Amino acid sequence: MADDDFELEPPELTEDDVLVLEDPHFTGDTVAIVTGAGSGIGRATAVALAANGLTVAGVDVDEEGLAETSAEATDLDVPGEHVEVPADLTEGAEIEAAVEVAASHGTVRYLANIAGMQHISPLAEFPVEKYDLLTDVMVRAPFLLSKHVVPHVEATDDGVGAVGNMSSVHGHYATKDKAAYITSKFALRGLSQAIAAEGEGSLRGFSVSVGYVKTPLVVDQIPDTARERGISEREVVEDVMLGQARTKEMMEPVEVANLFTLGFSRHGRHLNGGDLLWDGGYTLTYE
Ligand code: NAD
Repeated sequence: MADDDFELEPPELTEDDVLVLEDPHFTGDTVAIVTGAGSGIGRATAVALAANGLTVAGVDVDEEGLAETSAEATDLDVPGEHVEVPADLTEGAEIEAAVEVAASHGTVRYLANIAGMQHISPLAEFPVEKYDLLTDVMVRAPFLLSKHVVPHVEATDDGVGAVGNMSSVHGHYATKDKAAYITSKFALRGLSQAIAAEGEGSLRGFSVSVGYVKTPLVVDQIPDTARERGISEREVVEDVMLGQARTKEMMEPVEVANLFTLGFSRHGRHLNGGDLLWDGGYTLTYE
């Protein structure tokens, strides 16, 4: 039941979509590590930070995806470099090596923990291997990456840096059959606050929570849900996914990327331990 006039693919990224800010640390000497940079929100964040002049170390297990991200950065003619750093975030040694590679390209000040995945299952049947995988990628890896990045920030002359963690509306409330995801997204808000508590003000932690974004993770589920429920793809988006939201449109990946840019910049100076809840009214309104 496809809807012909209904567009689920994100439009091609243009320069106009990207938030570009003046910041003394937004230069090629500064490195931002972005995980999940091979697709979706991570790719958009890698390109957006490179558009802000930063050197970006894009980390992902998907090497082809990373190459496409480099191609997108080149197409947009961004001033910053995108360095491809293939790594499997379930492997502690690969995480440590990825931070070392990133540090060989400049001063590591920023870390965007974005890589993630979903698994849908009722709690009683939830495969423990899936729980382990989701929490390895979305809790353990962000913790380990932060652990390895913090000393680099602390070694700088001014100690300025930040870790931004990709949470979700599911880091605020729960729906059924997503226990590992919800547990992970709540944990990422906790990690952000823990970093803020230790960061002495100049090294900050924050989280980003959004509803539904046009990425493969979400878009690929829509035709199946439409078929299963016998409704159109538009109805899946507007009634099932965004039924609770006031803004009945999914976000574009670049709109999420812009939140990381804002959070890392000097304009985010007082964002410390806090959460950027950009959810179109999803979480805080009720009909
Ligand atoms: P996506 O599937 O497009 O991208 C996820 C990326 O993570 C992929 O490139 C994948 O290769 C990478 N990844 C997964 N496992 C990895 C591993 N072991 N090692 C290295 N990389 C690995 O998904 P997305 O929609 O861009 O989601 C990105 C993040 O945003 C996730 O944490 C997700 O939970 C969160 N989020 C997404 C939405 C949404 O609607 N799309 C909403 C809220 C939060």
